[in-house]
Amino acid sequence: MNLNNIRKIIKKGVIVENEPMARHTTFRAGGPARYFISPANTSELAGLVRYLFNNGIEYYVIGNGSNMLVSDEGYDGVIIDLGSRDGTEFTLLGLDDSSDPVKFEAGAGSLMSNLGKLMLKFSVTGFEPLSGIPGCIGGALAMNAGAYGGEMKDIVTGASAVDPEGRQMHLSKEELDLSYRHSAVQDKRLIVTKVEFELHRGEAEKIKALMDEYTSKRREKQPLEFPSAGSTFKRPEGHFAGKLIEEAGLRGYCINGACVSDKHCGFIINKGGAKASDIYELICYVRDKVCENSGVMLEPEVRMLGRFD
Ligand SMILES: Cc1cc2nc3c(=O)[nH]c(=O)nc-3n(C[C@H](O)[C@H](O)[C@H](O)COP(=O)(O)OP(=O)(O)OC[C@H]3O[C@@H](n4cnc5c(N)ncnc54)[C@H](O)[C@@H]3O)c2cc1C
Repeated sequence: MNLNNIRKIIKKGVIVENEPMARHTTFRAGGPARYFISPANTSELAGLVRYLFNNGIEYYVIGNGSNMLVSDEGYDGVIIDLGSRDGTEFTLLGLDDSSDPVKFEAGAGSLMSNLGKLMLKFSVTGFEPLSGIPGCIGGALAMNAGAYGGEMKDIVTGASAVDPEGRQMHLSKEELDLSYRHSAVQDKRLIVTKVEFELHRGEAEKIKALMDEYTSKRREKQPLEFPSAGSTFKRPEGHFAGKLIEEAGLRGYCINGACVSDKHCGFIINKGGAKASDIYELICYVRDKVCENSGVMLEPEVRMLGRFD
């Protein structure tokens, strides 16, 4: 890859070489990205994707890295980062009217928690169940993230994106095709730049009470004191992954620093010094043991990037 050409496209954004992905994933594991590029706006992003497409260079987009496992060898391509730098077009959040329903757009690199704070400030209801998800808005849309009976699908009306050839496009809600931890964003390898929401006016005290309740539930049930990527596996139809893992006798089971959480068996945590290979080995071990014990084949929710043997 010719960096001088990339520098002609990424003028305000930032380019870093050999950036450790352990710094950018909530598992705190994983080797370096050959190039880690944070575009400052959609025009830089589209230009970059077009250049990578025309030159056959591999790339992968990340938000907050809260649902990612990158291999210890790292990623020999370009990580396009929309979430780690403040002050880009992707981290803009704003509400500009006082009508009901409340319709607004949010940058794909904004944290869900920051959107939650904005919703509380302007007394907008409907986002409370999602406000504790530790990802960016673009990642949450790509995953159709959900919690406590709510999911992105309930509140999103459309999105702007860049396609794999660097073309800017708009998707309606129908075109986003959101379902359990799935979206057309993933199928079509799109990069979300902005998400459109429709919510309603509410009462600040009720909104705060709900957000506090969900935060307490997370603190009580989830091992938030350790690095993880949340629920490691998708919820299998008719079951709970955590329960199946517990029934397979794997509560607290470790491979080096990677462990099945004692507090919530659905979480694999990094208890200290776990390599991506330890986490991966544990994911495979848990999947096999659960299948032996219950006949249910768990499917990882966590996205894996790089080589895992
Ligand atoms: C403690 C903890 C609790 C969690 N709780 C929940 C929960 O309650 N519910 C839930 O659903 N998830 C939960 N998660 C998982 C994770 O936070 C969500 O999946 C989140 O939406 C991922 O967002 P992200 O920005 O971190 O995405 P990343 O991890 O950076 O990326 C995840 C996927 O989305 C893609 N992606 C990211 N940004 C974009 C973009 N702009 N355009 C296109 N694709 C993109 C990536 O390519 C990748 O495939 C939890 C994780 C942790 C660590």
